[in-house]
Amino acid sequence: MPTPHLSIVIPVYNEADNLENLYRRLTHTLDAFGKPYEILFINDGSRDATESLLEALFHRRPDILRVIHFNGNFGQHMAIMAGFERARGEIIVTLDADLQNPPEEIPTLIQAIEAGHDYVGSIRQNRQDTWFRRHASRINNAIRARITGIVMTDQGCMLRAYQRHVIDAVVASRESSVYIPALAYSYAGNPTEVMVQHCHREAGKSKYNLYKLLRLNFDLMTGFSLVPLQAFTVFGMVVSLFSTLFVIYLFIRRLLIGPEAEGMFTLFAILYFLIGVGLMGLGIVGEYIGRIYKEVRQRPFYIVRNTLEQVGETTHV
Ligand code: UDP
Ligand code: MG
Repeated sequence: MPTPHLSIVIPVYNEADNLENLYRRLTHTLDAFGKPYEILFINDGSRDATESLLEALFHRRPDILRVIHFNGNFGQHMAIMAGFERARGEIIVTLDADLQNPPEEIPTLIQAIEAGHDYVGSIRQNRQDTWFRRHASRINNAIRARITGIVMTDQGCMLRAYQRHVIDAVVASRESSVYIPALAYSYAGNPTEVMVQHCHREAGKSKYNLYKLLRLNFDLMTGFSLVPLQAFTVFGMVVSLFSTLFVIYLFIRRLLIGPEAEGMFTLFAILYFLIGVGLMGLGIVGEYIGRIYKEVRQRPFYIVRNTLEQVGETTHV
């Protein structure tokens, strides 16, 4: 296999109904583009026919395809990471397998890279998601940009292109539970974004639900910033200040008026509120400790069962 100029990295989880279409549109676009390329499919422990379909595809074009089978479901970002570790191209492109990111847009991204950008994100034109998804992501983007300094108009769009040096830095980070585009963005010197078409999922269904989205955003906030902790400290200081003033006030009243028992319920309300805030703070601290715990354990982020590539069909466990 000659060293490719482009590496296309695609995480795949239960996408049997999309693979043939994806393969055809992708190879059609890239063959026409004319630069040597490789496509890395990372099968993230699919339980449908994905595995056998990928094998069949591999045997059709072993010169350009590489298939990595995980030994379980390690998540989209770990699949992308595995692809990055193996990609050999100067330009690396990530793409979803569900055809929500049209492969035909890849040349647009590559043009931006060739114009000197080292990170090219994409913004979905006429986004085809539900009203709820669209608005949730708008609010979320604003908060994320403010807290982490990562400006990313369209966080959910995985169609992105990177120059080699950015990917090398991402791989060297060895970080688990990370949202890769944000990590790559933080290493990029000259990032940009381009508009791309966005389509409905061709087949199958989304693997993301509200809980996963919340988790992703928690990871982003705590993975790229200490602001949640600092905001909490500031809040604690403000509350302490007010409490001190309140105690002084009550003390003076005690001296002037004598013992009082009114306002008990108000006090309880305030107390419950503060307990709630306290618990939330504990949660935030817990997030960071959880991260530290994960890093110190140093468990492997994913396990590869089997790799198909032309150098030989190797099997690792
Ligand atoms: N994916 C994966 N592992 C997972 C979940 C998803 O590799 O545990 C892949 C999936 O096959 C697709 C991409 O990640 O190629 C995006 O997933 P999905 O389309 O479900 O997410 P959405 O578009 O709804 O954000
Ligand atoms: Mg999708």
